[in-house]
Amino acid sequence: MTTPTGRFAPSPSGALHFGSLVAALASYCEARSRQGRWLLRIEDVDTPRVVAGAGDQILRDLEAFGFEWDGGVVYQSERFDQYRHYLEQLIDQGDCYACECSRRMLREQGVQSGALGLIYPGLCRTRGLAPENHSLRLLTEADQRVGFRDRVYGEFALDLPECVGDFVLRRRDNIYAYHLAVVVDDELQGINQVVRGADLLENTCLHLYLQRRLGFSTPSYMHLPLVNNADGVKLSKQTGADPLDHRNPSRLLLAALSHLGQQPPRDLEDGNPRTVLQWSCDHWNAAAITPQRSPIAETFGY
Ligand code: GLU
Repeated sequence: MTTPTGRFAPSPSGALHFGSLVAALASYCEARSRQGRWLLRIEDVDTPRVVAGAGDQILRDLEAFGFEWDGGVVYQSERFDQYRHYLEQLIDQGDCYACECSRRMLREQGVQSGALGLIYPGLCRTRGLAPENHSLRLLTEADQRVGFRDRVYGEFALDLPECVGDFVLRRRDNIYAYHLAVVVDDELQGINQVVRGADLLENTCLHLYLQRRLGFSTPSYMHLPLVNNADGVKLSKQTGADPLDHRNPSRLLLAALSHLGQQPPRDLEDGNPRTVLQWSCDHWNAAAITPQRSPIAETFGY
């Protein structure tokens, strides 16, 4: 039987926040409640966006909350050779092409935006530009709709050419795109269950498409309801969410469990975080997760 293998894959572009804790906890419970492996991958592929010290802080946060991962920590910044290898495969297959359109240029031309940004209209497809000093895009014309069954949100599909267009796999400044890195890493690390925030639902369609082009397997996907701040905006590093407070990790874990529809006994709050994690894995009920977002105040029982 295949070992369930999940992962937590934070980007070190800032400190972990309550929404990150929800993703760490749910991915951990999914794997550990089925005697599976749980891996930690620091997604520092976009090196200019890495905040100094954030990667180490993430490890300290996870330790303070009682999480234990299998094997060593994987850093995307050490895996560029892998990304290059698979990008070359796509180029050889004729799935990729070089593009010199800048975002500004596309905006000036009135190109439309979709859920994932500008919908690239394929202007450079047939120009035969050299890959050097240009971005590389993946052709999306072969398959029309790409869909999957999410374990919380149900059927989800996107018409890639219409809603996204050919998307970038390597930027002009030679930075590999998150889409390429995450798909390659999940395959090479044997990840068969992906659990992450619902802000990545649309992205998953891109990942499925890329998996097919590369001949990779497809994990199961579970996207989690997001947590909103007091203004109704999703908690994120970009919107300045508070970093995780280490003073009472068990209390925060209980709040994360209640956001995920689990019903932990309140007195666990007085125990150590490892005890809360053990309870969480022993009583994990993924079916109780609903797509509703909850405001942060509600998750803390205020
Ligand atoms: N690195 C992404 C983030 O921090 C998560 C990617 C994923 O789980 O696939 O939002």
